[in-house]
Amino acid sequence: MSVSDSMSAAKDRLAREVAAVSRLLVSEGILDYSGHVSTRVPGRDAFLIQTGLDSRAELRPERLLLVDYDGNVLEGSGKPPAELPLHIEVFKARPDVQAVLHCHMELAIAFTMMKGVKLHLMRARAVRWESGIPMHPDPSHIKLTEQAEALARTLGPHHAVLMRAHGLTLVAESVPALLVDAIHFQENATAMMQVLQSGAEPEPLTEEELVQINLHEMREFHVGKLWNYYMRKGMGAALVPPEWELVQAS
Ligand SMILES: [Zn+2]
Repeated sequence: MSVSDSMSAAKDRLAREVAAVSRLLVSEGILDYSGHVSTRVPGRDAFLIQTGLDSRAELRPERLLLVDYDGNVLEGSGKPPAELPLHIEVFKARPDVQAVLHCHMELAIAFTMMKGVKLHLMRARAVRWESGIPMHPDPSHIKLTEQAEALARTLGPHHAVLMRAHGLTLVAESVPALLVDAIHFQENATAMMQVLQSGAEPEPLTEEELVQINLHEMREFHVGKLWNYYMRKGMGAALVPPEWELVQAS
């Protein structure tokens, strides 16, 4: 296989990952008619993202656009989402980030609208966000470069940023890791909401407990385990075509 063939195979695999994760995040109630997943393409000064119009529930890999960091569509047909600058500025600000999810997760938004209540680290897997979960104050859609630069500044070195009355942006080292983080972010927000709804006072993880959790953290293994679970679940529910070969079908 030539170098350009293997680069193209890597891009095709990433496109299948983005399509599969988008479909699964719809089934998990994290994406709906809007929101998007993007990922850098190794060897190309560009990233993959879906069009604004294509349904997240039935996204196909061949429909993804290859877009450069000036917002030009290099490959594919259709228009990128209106919030494309969000992805561009986060990628520019964070060379360590390979994949970005922007979504309008209901429970995440709820925690931007409660006076005096902050989303805490409740469940063990929320250790991923121990550096902090900042909240961006601009409630409008991020359509302009300067808005997106401001969002990237609020995100800073963290792995998640809440967006006031709007949504959430998560960043990760790969598309599979991004799926896992999205699932755990929702679990953690659900846990805190359940505590609040019970009338009890939330008791977040302490610094000592976070240290303890980190001692046993095996992120790579954990991401692989959940990737296998969700891809097989998706194939069982006919959401992810087995011929995409993201994991063994049986
Ligand atoms: Zn949005």
